[in-house]
Amino acid sequence: MFESIVAWYAPHVCIGCNRPGDLLCLGCQEGLPAATSRCYRCRALAESGRTCAACRRQSPLYSVRVVTDYEGVSKDLVRKFKFDGARAAARPIARTMNTLLSDDQGLLVLVPIPTASSRRRHRGFDQARLIARELAAQSGFDYSPLLGRLGQTRQVGSTRHQRLLQLTHSFYVRGSAKRVTGQHIILVDDVMTTGATLEAAAATLKAAGARRVEAIVFARA
Ligand SMILES: [Zn+2]
Ligand SMILES: [Zn+2]
Repeated sequence: MFESIVAWYAPHVCIGCNRPGDLLCLGCQEGLPAATSRCYRCRALAESGRTCAACRRQSPLYSVRVVTDYEGVSKDLVRKFKFDGARAAARPIARTMNTLLSDDQGLLVLVPIPTASSRRRHRGFDQARLIARELAAQSGFDYSPLLGRLGQTRQVGSTRHQRLLQLTHSFYVRGSAKRVTGQHIILVDDVMTTGATLEAAAATLKAAGARRVEAIVFARA
């Protein structure tokens, strides 16, 4: 209701084709080039973004599904979302992610990667939360913001290992760990670069007893 009133006074324009209506029209959504399905860690081809057997031995992530690469329209959409505060971008971003969840069944919990608090203060909202909530509404899976993030998390370490260690200590489970035990969790974020942030979040959840942790992201940089 409220959103439709806002849309009436300030209609959005499609980032891809300038047509008024949605921030990303269905035509331009279908035109987004699908990301090649790969192991996020070594980039070997892999079905449904599964982590390959060799990388699984060192990674807590079962898979990382990626909608598209971070370029062109997808980059414009994410930038608009992050820097212009366009909350309306959450809906089309979630819509594209939902197409990758169509084969999933059973009990799944969608958990957003929390944004570092300084950035959230600056922006006034947490983009992964908005996307995960929207994705839950569209897919019917549960939404639960189970992870918190401690303090400042600038990635200052020089090696991947150092950065990962810093990150692992920056996430924690909010509330009782019982909410995590035995769960099948899908982490939700907008953009992945190295995957170190997703790994750290997954390691925290696995340590708290999660049965399986996957991730879904809109774009891969
Ligand atoms: Zn369009
Ligand atoms: Zn691999």
